Amino acid sequence: MSYDSGLSELYQEVILDHSRSPRNSGRLDGSSHQSVGFNPLCGDQIALFLQVSGNKIEDVRFEAVGCAISLASASLMSEAIKGKTVEEAEKLFESFHEMLTEDASPEQIGKLAALAGTREFPMRVKCATLAWHTLTSALKGDCKTISTEEDA
Ligand code: ZN
Repeated sequence: MSYDSGLSELYQEVILDHSRSPRNSGRLDGSSHQSVGFNPLCGDQIALFLQVSGNKIEDVRFEAVGCAISLASASLMSEAIKGKTVEEAEKLFESFHEMLTEDASPEQIGKLAALAGTREFPMRVKCATLAWHTLTSALKGDCKTISTEEDA
């Protein structure tokens, strides 16, 4: 496991905290949108539930199994998008994705910046973006399971 040398930097306090105690975990009864995401390269899985009213994400819950990065990312995402409009959440994903793939440091990304270290580890970027791809799928109303290894 050659990437272990970088893990101390990668697993920052925020990531550990969120992976150990994920916020907004659980199912959402009567959710308006839901989707399931899978990252076969790591084995991460997430079921995401949203309550969207009008154009606003009023509530979000998820059930996830996987590595610390995927759990922390789902937890941080749930906090970041709750109460936001659909457009705001989509913009946030754009900024988040830029941070992980283009070495950018977008403003207004808040705690999501804790995951910036994953950009040094291309395999981990998939763990970090799984929850967001699942969010996009849920908002589109796709019911099928999405995979990080499809239409990439
Ligand atoms: Zn993972």
